[in-house]
Amino acid sequence: MKVLVVNAGSSSIKYQVMDMTDESVLAKGLVDRVGIPGTTLKHEPTGKDDVLIKQDLPDHTAGMKLVLEVLINPEYGCLKSMDEIGAVGHRVVHGGEDFAESVVIDDKVKKVIRDCFDVAPLHNPPNLMGIEACEELMPNVKHVAVFDTAFHQTMTPANFMYALPYDVYEKYKVRRYGFHGTSHFYVAHRAAEMLGKAYEDCKIVTLHLGNGASMAAISNGKVVDTSMGFTPLEGLVMGTRSGDIDPAIVFFLMDKLNLDANEANNYFNKKSGLLGLSGVSNDLRDVIEAAEAGNERAQMALDVYHNKIKGYIGNYIAKLNGCDCIVFTAGVGENGIGTREEICKDLEALGIKMDTAKNKVRGKEVDVSTPDSKVKIFLIPTNEELVIARDTYTLAK
Ligand code: ADP
Repeated sequence: MKVLVVNAGSSSIKYQVMDMTDESVLAKGLVDRVGIPGTTLKHEPTGKDDVLIKQDLPDHTAGMKLVLEVLINPEYGCLKSMDEIGAVGHRVVHGGEDFAESVVIDDKVKKVIRDCFDVAPLHNPPNLMGIEACEELMPNVKHVAVFDTAFHQTMTPANFMYALPYDVYEKYKVRRYGFHGTSHFYVAHRAAEMLGKAYEDCKIVTLHLGNGASMAAISNGKVVDTSMGFTPLEGLVMGTRSGDIDPAIVFFLMDKLNLDANEANNYFNKKSGLLGLSGVSNDLRDVIEAAEAGNERAQMALDVYHNKIKGYIGNYIAKLNGCDCIVFTAGVGENGIGTREEICKDLEALGIKMDTAKNKVRGKEVDVSTPDSKVKIFLIPTNEELVIARDTYTLAK
């Protein structure tokens, strides 16, 4: 069976076609600036030249229609006809408390996705637009939702509850959910294979460090804790998100800067993090470059960034009562040689010892710890699309 994986954002659609007989990628691509003048589609068919199409598209349905046309194009497509696609897997950010696993999409599932608009206003509405566009264009195949929150649903109240009046949990479902679950799931399972142990017997700390960043602590095959919370704002320092702060700062700055709730949300999500602290960029590479050129504020931003991660490693090793391995993944985790080194520096007391020579590597599945490191340090490129395709295939069969 061939599976189409779709990740629809507010103005973009990422897609990938996989042949599940050998899990090979037949083509992937990105439609950018959907609904904005200057739409582009970059199509990357395996074994053929990339194709760039410029064509303004009013909405996600028009975007998906173009994707499907490209997929069956005799010159650069990867399918003879759309009938070859057996199922479609959709990335959905928020599944609330209803989904601990992927599901075949029906009206009830769409209602839950819609009910979560309130808590995931930037992600769930475009995710649903992507689903409805695909349903319209491919009505005869199964559509599957794979949720970013699902993997973390094994957390117990000890880690998912906030110390707030209980009725806000009952009325509004204010609790910690966690995100990037598909990525944490993938790298944790690969890590168990690298350890040569059953996944259920491993204690693993995963670090998904991209523009958005989160960590997870996993034991007995369950997520014990994760750093993102009610929204992706909680936890680590990110490109433009503050991560953990004293919540009183929110009211203080709303007053001082005269911000309404929406503006405050924007301030902590879009203007903070590495960007706000360094004044240079939200891109870690730019901040590192500025720090190397002597920019002290950029260096301070990096110190705060590294320290926060170190703190979570300690926190999670305590919660797991030990650890077999820590795993670096995503843009920074896979490529940031110096960043990984800084994070692992001076963690010998926790049993973490990096081989800095082995660590000089990018984007490969590799163990970069010393032979006597009690906790292994793995670098594992993430593959969320593969998890989505596998779940879709299993549910559609
Ligand atoms: P997203 O959350 O947007 O999916 P990615 O996982 O693609 O993000 O990661 C993007 C981040 O990875 C950027 O901040 C970028 O600076 C960082 N990155 C990429 N290459 C390197 C590198 N060599 N060193 C440090 N950071 C890097």
